[in-house]
Amino acid sequence: MNVSPAGVAVSLWTCIREQALARHWKLSDALFAEIDGFAWVQGWAIIRYRTKHTYRDPRFDRVVVCCTCGGDGKGEGGRMCRTCKGDGLLNFCDPPVARKTA
Ligand SMILES: [Zn+2]
Repeated sequence: MNVSPAGVAVSLWTCIREQALARHWKLSDALFAEIDGFAWVQGWAIIRYRTKHTYRDPRFDRVVVCCTCGGDGKGEGGRMCRTCKGDGLLNFCDPPVARKTA
C-alpha cells in the first residue's frame, strides 16, 4: 500500500499523480522564478494555474470610468469634463482637487 505525504493510504495511481504534480510545480517555479521575482518586486499580483502565470498590476483596480461624462471626457456643450479633466477616467488615489473659493 502506498502512503501519501499526509500519511494516508492511497492507490498507486494517486501516488504517481501527486508526484507528477509536485514535479510540475517545482519545474514551473524554476522556469518562472526570475519573472515572478520581478513581478513581486513591482508589487504585481501573480496568478498561477498549471503552466500559465498571469501578472496584474493592482493599480489598475484604482482606475474607474468617470461617472460624470461616462468616459468620453466631454462635459456639457462639448467642453472638457470638469470632473476628470477630459481623461474619461478617475483614479481613486489622486488627491482630491481643492475647490476654488470666490
Ligand atoms: Zn469625466
